[in-house]
Amino acid sequence: MNWIEISVCCDGEGAEAVSELFNRYNAGQEGRGGAVVEIGGFDALGELPQPIITVRTYLPASEEGKALQQRIEEGLWHLAQIYPLPEPQVQELAETDWAEAWKAHYRPLRVGQRLVITPSWLASGAAPGDVVIKLDPGMAFGSGLHPSTRLCLMLLEQHLRPGDSVLDLGTGSGILAIAAAKLGAGFVLARDIDPVAVKVAQENLEVNSVAHVVRVEDGSVPVRGSEHETFEPQTWNLIMVNILADVIVNLLDQGLATLLAPGGRLILSGIIQPRAPEVEAALQACQLTIIERLQEGDWLAFLAECPLLIPDHQYLVPDTHLPPCTVSSYSPPSFRATE
Ligand code: SAH
Repeated sequence: MNWIEISVCCDGEGAEAVSELFNRYNAGQEGRGGAVVEIGGFDALGELPQPIITVRTYLPASEEGKALQQRIEEGLWHLAQIYPLPEPQVQELAETDWAEAWKAHYRPLRVGQRLVITPSWLASGAAPGDVVIKLDPGMAFGSGLHPSTRLCLMLLEQHLRPGDSVLDLGTGSGILAIAAAKLGAGFVLARDIDPVAVKVAQENLEVNSVAHVVRVEDGSVPVRGSEHETFEPQTWNLIMVNILADVIVNLLDQGLATLLAPGGRLILSGIIQPRAPEVEAALQACQLTIIERLQEGDWLAFLAECPLLIPDHQYLVPDTHLPPCTVSSYSPPSFRATE
């Protein structure tokens, strides 16, 4: 049988949207694996100053495949009305070409100083000291290609402290939670309101052997003191949210900052430049100070910090340091209210 290859060349942001479209129309088993992403633009040092990304999908060259091709091309046309995309390239391939074609396009992606994101079947070629995150293409957002994810990973790499308790809100593929666990977090709670993301993230935790440090579940901001949360930290040393500015502002209004331990840090990303003042105002209203800003293109990420002491604030402080978490030994800290 022959195959139809549709490919689109774009930047990281466009790649997330095109991959999502390919996965939506042309999902493989269990709704995964419809998009193949090739990353180019590496310089001589293996760095990626200006990623050039090609996203491909493969359809059988049958009547059904051709009908799907038409729907995909229509979908791409609609996408191109809101995001600049070139014309898709279409070619027909023989079975033998296709069998190896899709895996051949993948390459590991370096982020920050030590993080390497690679599909699980590729020997990563990682250097000693590198932190390898194995991520297979899936439906959930969070391949590491989007600038907002990369900015989060950079802040996480710089600011995570060993043993930190970490809350990853809107985990998507689980990429940030996995990175936190591999960089030395004591315990990570990863939540997402999308059940597909929860399932994909759980699989990715297992592939990365961090399921004993990270718990992934359906939901949004944990409710402090609820029966369900009894066995978890009640405050967090580090909270990461890579969603959109309006969702972030909403979460801050709902009391997200009160879940930070004294001196705790908040990584916020997914903020396009014109919306940054709203996020800055919401942080200020919560008495959080922005101590670092990173920018790539129009996308901004903030690192904000909670003061060690806020006058008249009732803190919950852990009685002990969080122990490192292993399958058999993780036991939650107990908490006492400050006077
Ligand atoms: N953390 C990943 C994925 C970010 S995409 C990364 O950095 O690449 C944002 C994710 O947030 C999506 O999976 C979406 O389902 C989820 N989400 C959106 N609103 C949310 C909310 N209010 N609470 C929790 N998750 C949310």
